[in-house]
Parts: sequence; structure tokens; C-alpha cells
Amino acid sequence: MSSETKTLKPNNFLSPAALANNEKAQALIKQLAHPVLGHFIHGKEVPSLSGKVFTNKSPIDGTNLNETAMGDVEDVAAASKSSSDAFESWQAWPAKKRRDLLHTIADTLERHSESISLLETADTGQPLRFTEKTAARGAENFHYFADLCTRATDGHSYPTPTHLNYTVRDPIGPIAAITPWNMPFMLATWKIAPALAAGCSVVHKPAEWSPLTASLLAKLAFEAGLPAGVLNLVHGTGDQAGTAITQDPHIKAIAFVGGTKTGSRIMSQGAASLKRVHFELGGKSPVVVFDDADLDRAVDAVAFMIFSLNGQRCNAGSRLLVQDTIHDQFVQRLVEKAKSIRVGNPFDPLTEVGPLIHQNQLAKVIQHCTDAKKSGATMHCGGAVNGQTDLPSAGHWFEPAIVTGLSADMPIVQEEVFGPVLAVLPFKDEAQALALANNSRYGLSTYLWTSHLARAHRLARSFQSGMVWVNTEISRNLSTPFGGMKDSGIGRDGGDWSFDFYMETRNICIALDAHSIPKIGAPSVKT
Ligand code: NAD
Repeated sequence: MSSETKTLKPNNFLSPAALANNEKAQALIKQLAHPVLGHFIHGKEVPSLSGKVFTNKSPIDGTNLNETAMGDVEDVAAASKSSSDAFESWQAWPAKKRRDLLHTIADTLERHSESISLLETADTGQPLRFTEKTAARGAENFHYFADLCTRATDGHSYPTPTHLNYTVRDPIGPIAAITPWNMPFMLATWKIAPALAAGCSVVHKPAEWSPLTASLLAKLAFEAGLPAGVLNLVHGTGDQAGTAITQDPHIKAIAFVGGTKTGSRIMSQGAASLKRVHFELGGKSPVVVFDDADLDRAVDAVAFMIFSLNGQRCNAGSRLLVQDTIHDQFVQRLVEKAKSIRVGNPFDPLTEVGPLIHQNQLAKVIQHCTDAKKSGATMHCGGAVNGQTDLPSAGHWFEPAIVTGLSADMPIVQEEVFGPVLAVLPFKDEAQALALANNSRYGLSTYLWTSHLARAHRLARSFQSGMVWVNTEISRNLSTPFGGMKDSGIGRDGGDWSFDFYMETRNICIALDAHSIPKIGAPSVKT
């Protein structure tokens, strides 16, 4: 390991609470994935047609969690045919009946909150203190879009004296939801709930590093009464199952959350069958802190938005741009905070940062820090951890890191590290802050801290990002548009924006009187 490797302070790996929660999670995994975690095709859990499986490993200690069915083109074909067969009757369900079912699914998820939380922690290494809110957040997605069901087909009307134009919406057809590993349960519900509310059937392909809660979601949805085929689930890799879904002729649209490179591949894979795409991709979101800001609140928010969820969140505020007048003191306060963060067993209720998802992800995070240091940067705290602690050496441990002394073009400033690493740059004035913030291929979120009202409005209109958060960490209101510009995505989710993606809008134009119709050719002869 590199020079970033260090010894961690004594931790809670073997605390009684952590051990007890781990035991409960292992029992749940056995129950859910015995002998294999299967696909859900036409309402039934099934193995792969090829019989192939892959091993899902723990990010905590590298042990095997379970075997998962390895989907391929034949499994995808069966799943998409099932979705296509189920589509006609599902879209014809009365909206109120669909609404009631989605509420029932939400209630079922809430009842299984503890299982969802434990499985998510086992699979991803996200601390329990965050995953215990996962079921409620997923249920909120179902409740929210359930309430919109009865309005989904509504359109607009544009009357003139001679013509009435009005629009109606219909579900586009079977869609694919392809989701990542960083918040697997929440992100699956974020795509599946609006699609079902719109009247679409769904084929879901979760990330291969985190298959567990996707299976539980499908199982609970069927237990709640979802008809067979309305939701199909195929496990497997992006290269095989993922590619097959994006090329399948039954699938009309792809709702994708994941990396920017993958998004671009999916776009070309789906091009031959003209798939509609909605992309929520990577980010390198700046946090801009002016010296007139409420610094106590800003410190808390900056630390939360880069170190919570192990730094593996698309909306992480991973580039801190701080006014030069307060740079040193602000960094000092952040470093103190970062050092106090409890890294350890994610099954312990006190843990704030758990292991990163995979050894590849850990290697990538270490590489970014090592390269930055080689280029002269200062790493004030953090780094990889191994040995001399009771943390298992096979886990992917990395303490929250803060790096200064950077130039704007360095990879650690420009690329998505996707770990608990904060890159810091100073700025002098508003113009420089704006230039630095927009100097990125990404455009997901920008966070701004200032008490200067006019400046807040001015900058909010000038940042190149789909979302701007002023004097706040991320705060979701499901009616507002969520999504990125530039390399961070295509399209918006939330409220009616979701229905625009999952539905076709039809315009109907009706003449209201005998208006004059333009004529060409010879006048018709009256007999
Ligand atoms: P990834 O792109 O590697 O994988 C995402 C999903 O795509 C997985 O299910 C994977 O199997 C599948 N996939 C991979 N190649 C495919 C292909 N050729 N065809 C079809 N499917 C394919 O992303 P990841 O590493 O799982 O997740 C991390 C990324 O997700 C980060 O970049 C993060 O910023 C992004 N993300 C974005 C948002 C957002 O809202 N913008 C939210 C969460 C995560």
C-alpha cells in the first residue's frame, strides 16, 4: 500500500452492537439468497437459464456474502417479454387502484425497514446510521408518486377561437431501470416508483456489487400485490445483462443512474433501437464559501456533504472553493472535524464512515491521493488504513481526507474520486469563484455559502449545474427537478418531470368551427 496507508485509532469492529447486527444481517442473507439470489421474472424468483452465478463479497471483511444469479441475454429476453406481456393490462388499471397498490408497497417497505437497512449495510458498507433511513426514503418515493397516479395522464389545453389543442399522456411502454451500488435501494425506488405510477412495466438491473436489496424490493412488491411481469429483475454485470437490456426491442426507454462513461456506452448501445434515455451521471460538485457566510453552518454542511455515505454520493461536495481571507481557518476547522469522524464497522450504530464498496474503488481513491501528493499537494488528514487495528485487512478502509495546495487542472480536482476526499482551492473574489466552479466537465450540483443576497442570486444563475443549493446541504423536495447538465446527465426527475420521461405526450387538435381551409388545385365542381 502507498504512503497514504496509516494506522487507525482503536475502533468498534468487535463492539457487541456491531456483532449482533452483523449476525442478524447474515441470517437475512441466508433467508433471501439461499441457495442463490435469483432473478424475478414474471413474478417468480428463478435462477439464470445458464445456471451461472457470481459471488457477492462483503466490503467489510472480503468474505463471501452470497451467490447471485448471473443474467445474460436469454434471461433479459425472458424478463423483457414478461414486461411487454404485462404492460397492456397494467397501463389499463384504473389510476386509483394503481395509487392504492403503490401506497401498499410503500407501507410494506416501511414494515421491513430493519431488514432493508441491515442488507444494505452488509452489501455496501454504508453505516447503519444512514441505511436505517433507507426504507423510509424508498417508501417516500412510492407514496409520493402514488399520489400523482391520478394526474399522470393529464395534459394541457390551448384553446383559440378556431381550434382547441389539448395534450394527453400515455405510458411509453416497458422501461429499463439500471442502477448503481452507492445508494442501491433508494435509487432503485427513485426510478421504479414513478415508472409504475406512470403505467410502465419495468425491467430492473441493479449493480453487481450490491444485489441484495434489489431482490428484497422485488419480493416485497409482489407480496404487496404487484401483478406478475409489471416488475422484472435481472441480476448480472453491465457487460452482459446490462448491454442486453439496452438493446432489447421490447424496452422503450432506459432510466440510468451511474458513471458518465457507462452512460455514453448505453446511449450508443440503445441507438439502433432508438431508446429514449434519462441519465443521472457522475459529478464533481463545488462548494463555494465566501467569508461573509455563517461559517459554523458551512463547516458542518461541507463535512456532511463529502464524508457522509462514505463519500460515495453523486452529489458529494467534493471540490471546496473557499475565499482566501478565511482559507486557513476554515480548512483547520474541517480537518479537526474530519479527524473526529468515527471510521469503523458499519454495523456499529456509532460508525459514521464505513469501508468503501470494493477494492477497485479503494485503489482508485488511494491513487488520486498519491498522485496529488506527488504533484506537491498537502494531505492534512485521512488515508487508507490497514494492519495494527481490529479492522479486517480485507476491508476497504479509508479515513476522511482533506487535500490542499492543488491547482485547478489536477485529476483530484477534475475527476470524480467517489470516496471521502475533499479537494480544496482558494479564491480571491466572486469572478474567480465562478470561473473555478464552472471549470469542470460535470454540472450536477453547486453549493453556495454567502450572506450576500444579491450575490447569491447572481451566482445561482451563473453556475453551470442542474441544481444550486444556497446556504444548505442537499435538501430534497420530490416535486422539484433533480438532475445534471454537462457530463452529469440528461433529463430531470421529480414531480411531473419524471412523467415526461416515462410517458408519451400526444397533442390533439380539434377545429371548433368551419374555419377557412386553404385551397390548392382547381376548385371542386358542384354537381
Ligand atoms: P457504473 O456506471 O459502473 O454502473 C451503474 C450500472 O450500470 C450498474 O448496474 C452496471 O452494471 C451497469 N452497467 C455498466 N456497464 C453497462 C453497459 N455497458 N450497459 C448497461 N449497463 C451497464 O456506476 P457505478 O460505479 O455503479 O456507480 C457510481 C456512479 O454512479 C458514480 O459516477 C456516481 O456519480 C453515479 N451516480 C449518479 C447519481 C446521480 O443522481 N447523478 C446518483 C448515484 C450515482
